Amino acid sequence: MIFEMHCHTRYGSSCSYMSPDELVKKGAEVGLDGVCITEHDIPWDKKATEELSNRFGILVIGGMEVSTPYGEVLVWGLHEPIFDVEDIYELRRRVDRAGGVMVAAHPFRGAHTFIRWDPVEGMIPKIDEALQLPIFKAVDGMEVFNGMAPNWELDLSSAVCDNLPIMGTGGSDAHNVEAVGDCVTVLQKRVTTEEQFFDEIREGRYCAQHRLLDRFYPDNGVVPSSGEGQSDA
Ligand SMILES: [Zn+2]
Ligand SMILES: [Zn+2]
Repeated sequence: MIFEMHCHTRYGSSCSYMSPDELVKKGAEVGLDGVCITEHDIPWDKKATEELSNRFGILVIGGMEVSTPYGEVLVWGLHEPIFDVEDIYELRRRVDRAGGVMVAAHPFRGAHTFIRWDPVEGMIPKIDEALQLPIFKAVDGMEVFNGMAPNWELDLSSAVCDNLPIMGTGGSDAHNVEAVGDCVTVLQKRVTTEEQFFDEIREGRYCAQHRLLDRFYPDNGVVPSSGEGQSDA
């Protein structure tokens, strides 16, 4: 199943240019099986996402993009606004109690200190230093493909994820309809509820795809299938 895991709409993100209807309609048009709406700090009501799911025929799941001292985190399972996070581990405990999941959003956005320029080899990621970011101890996964990330950031994220016990997701961070589905997460199993979706993310049973650049994570040369027809979930 192909999921868009990171998007913003005008409903909850003043930085976005699309309505929830436009987002989900475009998601269905570009072949997605599911869309996560992740507004900044503001939750989505489950009834509202169910209504969108029914109307457009793909699974819509409400998450949030929460600001923390260690960077922004995509959070699922909580249905109240989350502001002023001081302790990411306390947030982790709340998410665990709710049965949700957490994914580090674009962990290296603007983090030029984690690369160095070599006149022969070009951009060299400082992987050992990047691995020490505390956020990686609090999440179930990390975004390796973010639709707004430049190539050096995609390379750094992938190299770091290779060395962590968590998997890498893809999400467009779409703020307009043109970007919907640029980066996706491909689940191995078919899911029909948000609880099943959380289980698959928690267990790392997925891979990431950057559809604009034709890149995959893990980059093992295997083109992911959508998982349709393997419904044991
Ligand atoms: Zn962000
Ligand atoms: Zn975002």
